[in-house]
Amino acid sequence: MDDNPPRKSSLGSRLATALKPKQSGRRLMKKSTVNLREAAVSKDSSLKDFPSTSSIRTNAQPQYESFPTVDTQTGERQDYTALIHGLGHQGSFDSLKSVSRLDPQRLDTDTRAGDRRVASLSDVLWLRVCSHLPPSCVASLAFASKTLRYRLGPEAWIALNHPENEQFKSEFLVSLDSQLPDHLFCFRCITYHRRVQKGQERLRATATMNPLFICPWASEPTQIPLRMRLTPGHTLPFTFVQLVMRAHRYGPDYGIPPESLSRRWKCRESEWSHQSRYYIDKGHLLLRIVSKSFAEPALPPSGLRHLLYSREDYFPYFSACAHWRDGELMNNCKCALGHIPKPKETIAQQLRTGPQINNAMRHVNAIVSLCGKCRPMRRCPDCPTEYLIEVRFEEDKNDPVNKFKQSIVVTRWSDLGDGTTPLAGEWFACNRETDYDSFATIGRRGISGTFEAQSGVAIPGQRMLSLNPENVKMGEKGHNWY
Ligand SMILES: [Zn+2]
Ligand SMILES: [Zn+2]
Ligand SMILES: [Zn+2]
Repeated sequence: MDDNPPRKSSLGSRLATALKPKQSGRRLMKKSTVNLREAAVSKDSSLKDFPSTSSIRTNAQPQYESFPTVDTQTGERQDYTALIHGLGHQGSFDSLKSVSRLDPQRLDTDTRAGDRRVASLSDVLWLRVCSHLPPSCVASLAFASKTLRYRLGPEAWIALNHPENEQFKSEFLVSLDSQLPDHLFCFRCITYHRRVQKGQERLRATATMNPLFICPWASEPTQIPLRMRLTPGHTLPFTFVQLVMRAHRYGPDYGIPPESLSRRWKCRESEWSHQSRYYIDKGHLLLRIVSKSFAEPALPPSGLRHLLYSREDYFPYFSACAHWRDGELMNNCKCALGHIPKPKETIAQQLRTGPQINNAMRHVNAIVSLCGKCRPMRRCPDCPTEYLIEVRFEEDKNDPVNKFKQSIVVTRWSDLGDGTTPLAGEWFACNRETDYDSFATIGRRGISGTFEAQSGVAIPGQRMLSLNPENVKMGEKGHNWY
């Protein structure tokens, strides 16, 4: 190669010409076929020592367009038109479907270069390689090319159908996601269903029927965490995380943008209102929910409970991860509510209740500062979720008399993972008890910091404490949560 540089540049420029966008398909076929053939012939002598070019040399012999030759070594059809079409389409989302790797012609051209090397290794060696791989990877290997399929046989795919290999079957099928924009993987059935609202998928309240595909098992109970509780009456189905992350990875045809998940809603049975936003960072979907409610000062314990817990299931009204009962989350909310001062009272107002006048009551500071216990940002040690509790002075548009009131604001940030499986990773950790260690995994920069940085908001530097510093896990049996 080195002894013949002018020819090398000539091949490069000819290939570049062949790959340029063409004015018509007819011209593309004619020109590219000629170019490649010429290039192959001209390179023939200089590339003798390079094993993968042997197929090009075979093809350089004169042949007819309508009869693609068959490689004597691998038994594959060799078609220049398909080769050039395949190369020319790379990198464009619009044409992904047409050059999908499920297309056998594309499969041929993509794998031809490596096929000879694959074929040169013995069956014993390939079986040895497979013995070190999980079943899902063996199935993917057998799916990679015809040569590998013949070498490895269909056993890997048959093995995936055994009930104990369900997880590997899911892994293998999810790896085909990039080929199936019109379908969505169902973790109940371990199969792909056709999207019935393609591109129109919208997040709705849990009570609303909103199937994204027709699944025969949709109404059956399942142990798989397919929904994440956000607030009373509102959940996030895992299918929406799938859709958003697929669109992010493969293009808009595969799902929906993260912005389309953002919502504002008001709780029906309480004063709480919520606002959700989503953002993708480093291949993970991040969630932020800001929940707030007006709060009276000096509430007794029963009043605090009435404000914080849903009457329906005694979960918090605001958004929380599955580990909210352990640790300090609820205590800190009650602590923050305890810092709300009594409203300002003029002398006339004070005299109505008695003769004493308290001068401090005339000048109450509307800005409430919280204490060292309830002010710091907290991170759940068992999942990638962070919390911030604030007391803010906010306008109540529905109250003509007392327009400005104190309110409690609980913000939750969570990492929902990469959307490939609800049975592992961040999504699973947020919903279940796992051995996930958030302080070891997330590191110094918090999810909250990453999320707010995208809109240019810098969260004031403060300590990130553990939500459960004692690390006592009692769940519902604990004494702290109510
Ligand atoms: Zn299904
Ligand atoms: Zn406090
Ligand atoms: Zn948690």
